Amino acid sequence: MSEHGTVTSSLFPTYARFPLALVKGEGSWLWDDQGNKYLDFMCGLAVTNLGHAPEQVKQALVRQLDELWHVSNLFHIPDQEAAAKLLTDRSCADAVFFCNSGAEANEAAIKLARRYHQQVLQNGRYEIITFSQSFHGRTLATLTATGQEKVKEGFHPLPAGFKTVPLHDVAALEAAIGEQTAAIMIETVQAEGGVHLVEPAFMHRVAKLCEEHGLLLIVDEIQTGMGRTGKLFSYEHYGIEPDIFTLAKGLGSGFPVGAMLAKAPLREAFGPGSHGSTFGGTPIAAAVVKATLETYVSEGVVEQAADAGKYLLGRLQEKLADNPFVREIRGRGLIVGIECDGAVGDLITAARSRGLLVVTAGPQVIRLLPNLLVSRAEIDQAVDILAGLLAEQTVSTRGSNA
Ligand code: PLP
Repeated sequence: MSEHGTVTSSLFPTYARFPLALVKGEGSWLWDDQGNKYLDFMCGLAVTNLGHAPEQVKQALVRQLDELWHVSNLFHIPDQEAAAKLLTDRSCADAVFFCNSGAEANEAAIKLARRYHQQVLQNGRYEIITFSQSFHGRTLATLTATGQEKVKEGFHPLPAGFKTVPLHDVAALEAAIGEQTAAIMIETVQAEGGVHLVEPAFMHRVAKLCEEHGLLLIVDEIQTGMGRTGKLFSYEHYGIEPDIFTLAKGLGSGFPVGAMLAKAPLREAFGPGSHGSTFGGTPIAAAVVKATLETYVSEGVVEQAADAGKYLLGRLQEKLADNPFVREIRGRGLIVGIECDGAVGDLITAARSRGLLVVTAGPQVIRLLPNLLVSRAEIDQAVDILAGLLAEQTVSTRGSNA
């Protein structure tokens, strides 16, 4: 093992890093600095949706590196226009603001919701309602919006104007809506929170309450967007249309870029000087987003993801459902959680030693996030490794109980 992650590091110890340095990636596979090969079912946490180093995007990036790296957003950036058009043509949104990360996209969504109520409707509303176990980012506003206490510890005082209610609790949600409420913000699958799927009836109720009370519906698609759930945007599963939704992760195929998208009436709330970002949608980022979206279309990526998701869930049910350590297997498309009857940290480590990279979603859930073009053979390989480990786990648990 190398010295990675030891106390000699000059980095803040913000991450509990795996003792591994990955140095090369291609498709579904990664290699470490010792030459070991891994099947990647993490994808940088739902980022490399087209696999590592996808050819079409790589070519666009290399072309752009020869042309122009950066100009200010005070100039027109043709690829930024083109990328925005590709997004609005395929979604319920009419306008796009590019930024650099998921937290920034959600920050922009929160700001837009407030400004629309305050400047356009002139009703002074500012409050955003979010849900327990949600995750919306690490900036002060987005960690306040996040429904998990652990991300808030040590960062008080937090900004005012946020309320959190339990997911699927209609009465609590209705009670939380007041005169100052501006928006409800929700993930369709609480990914970081444990891969919890929002029930259709609840999502429809949320949308209806927004309509009845004049609230904006914000859907955080940062982990679920870009085909991850088997639709380009996960709100499509519900037949609803958010007023605002946010993207990052898969949007740049591994290049850091985020976006906040909204319907036409909200456009005027973000006039010149209202919001901005030095690096948002630069020529390089825009070229990457455009090539990513073009690849989605030319390769039928979303359809492939839907198909692979069904296959993965089917194989997991077949091989794992009878294991007494497995409580539930749940997922939508290629975001899948295996909830277990105890901590899964050791299983994640053991999977890594057998060449499979997976991650947790809370202490008892193994989260699978393969790329959207993952092959059936690769799915079989991952499921076999997990099934083997879980079978051994059951044997050793039984042994220790005896
Ligand atoms: N929202 C959701 C649903 C996420 O999963 C994440 C990151 O995991 C974020 C927001 C924050 O994104 P970023 O880390 O790019 O700021």
